[in-house]
Amino acid sequence: MKMIGLIGGMSWESSACYYQSINRRVAARRGGLHSARCLLYSVDFAEIEDCQREGDWDRAGVLLADAARALQAAGADLIGLCTNTMHKVADAIQAAVDVPLLHIADATGTALVAAGVRRVGLLGTRFTMEQGFYRERLARAFGLDVVVPDAPARAEVHRVIYDELCRGEVREDSREHYRAIVQELVDAGAEGVILGCTEVGLLLRQRDAAAPLFDTTQLHAEALVDAALD
Ligand code: GLU
Repeated sequence: MKMIGLIGGMSWESSACYYQSINRRVAARRGGLHSARCLLYSVDFAEIEDCQREGDWDRAGVLLADAARALQAAGADLIGLCTNTMHKVADAIQAAVDVPLLHIADATGTALVAAGVRRVGLLGTRFTMEQGFYRERLARAFGLDVVVPDAPARAEVHRVIYDELCRGEVREDSREHYRAIVQELVDAGAEGVILGCTEVGLLLRQRDAAAPLFDTTQLHAEALVDAALD
């Protein structure tokens, strides 16, 4: 079994989900008492969030590249970055190491294509919903037509992520709001919806939606394990 290196802490609430999902996947595939060989480099999210707010993506790239280097030096054979948003600096991270960085959008796009989805809704931070680094990769590499909520809904989705979910707060009124936003995406023709922020699975479950939900945390965790075992 290869050693999985995780760059986490963005937020730690979702990194905990990764740890659980990765170990469950290894147990499901290997049985018995098998669990994942893995390393976690957990950053101080406040430092990363400062970079996001100030638009200093270069500095964020340097911080996360340092984390990747440390994981490689500690023995990681492959690396997972446990956040969608920070894949904006995926190239800087990959350039710092020789081991592969498994891109979260690739794990997600592969699952969407396998499910036969062509037009897909996307929920995430405003960076993920509004900038090209994520949507364009899904469109280019997987032929997906990505739709996002309207501007007020995007602002609310973003606010709930940072003000609530990243702080471990799961509120029923926010779930209701997200449910309505998912329904708007389905009404706009989405055949599935990407939970494109690693905390959104804490709030929304499949029962909350009239279309299949694609939880990037789960899909990425599974892809990391499959790469470690195959
Ligand atoms: N975990 C989130 C994501 O998947 C948001 C936190 C962050 O900005 O990294 O995008």
